[in-house]
Amino acid sequence: MVESKYMSPVPDTPAEDNPTGLVAKILPSSAVDGPGNRAVVFLQGCDFNCKYCHNPETRSSCIHCGLCVPACPAGALSVYEGKVFWDSERCTDCGTCLQVCPHSSSPKAQTLTVTEVLQRLSRYFPFIRGLTISGGECGLQAAFLTSLVRRARKIHQLGSLIDTNGSTDYSRLSELVEDAEGFMLDVKAWDGAEHRALTGAPNDMVLKNLEYLGRLGMLYEVRTVVVPGLFNAEQTVCEVSRALVSCGSRARYKIIAFRPQGVRPQYRDLPQPDRKELVKLAMLARSMGVQEVVMV
Ligand code: SF4
Ligand code: SF4
Repeated sequence: MVESKYMSPVPDTPAEDNPTGLVAKILPSSAVDGPGNRAVVFLQGCDFNCKYCHNPETRSSCIHCGLCVPACPAGALSVYEGKVFWDSERCTDCGTCLQVCPHSSSPKAQTLTVTEVLQRLSRYFPFIRGLTISGGECGLQAAFLTSLVRRARKIHQLGSLIDTNGSTDYSRLSELVEDAEGFMLDVKAWDGAEHRALTGAPNDMVLKNLEYLGRLGMLYEVRTVVVPGLFNAEQTVCEVSRALVSCGSRARYKIIAFRPQGVRPQYRDLPQPDRKELVKLAMLARSMGVQEVVMV
């Protein structure tokens, strides 16, 4: 057994099944990241640059520039041999370092093995329904993600939901798809040019995953964030609904109003949709045959 301060029941594992991942944050309990009470593992790094991103500090790896160190009011950050170190015991979670960082990163991201992640969560296992693996974009760390999901299921009998921007080709990760409980997929815009303008990335793979995972019955939820004027929300909701129905998916469609909290300053003034606009989009999805539509 690996030594743990929590007297963890997580067994030791051969190195080949214990890859490391860059982890932004671990939340032992959340009621808003999938059904039931779930632990959430946020992985660091994302290949999209969405204008309305609510956690931009998870986009990039720390380049150890040190700018955040003097800004920390708790003395939780230090520099040693050109690297920035974070002292979790001193950190008060004030978020100042995340606001100061000009590189969309965080000094608090940690390289952890799958065993270490499971150990940190093990005392919460009796109280959670499953895991949600989010980001950043968790699909970018496929080996770590696959191992975490497999071990959570096979050793701890916990299902995992994959919260993804859809940029990873999941048809090439059959082991992950088999072991996952389901996927929560963002479709940010249906039109390719609009998607690129909104996120800086194409959406071909997103739409391929929508169809692939939907056909397999592996889509738990599809989400679209509505920002008036930024993309054609009506077209997106219409085409996503059509795709879900035509591939036989019973995924729920979550239509989300843009909110400025946590968004980078230059995008905080993006317009928010009113309730009427969301209701209209929800009715459109229902009229296309989507069984479960929620507005947030
Ligand atoms: S959140 Fe960042 S700035 Fe705030 S105490 Fe923790 S390390 Fe320091
Ligand atoms: S978190 Fe950002 S500001 Fe702090 S050292 Fe890393 S790159 Fe620099």
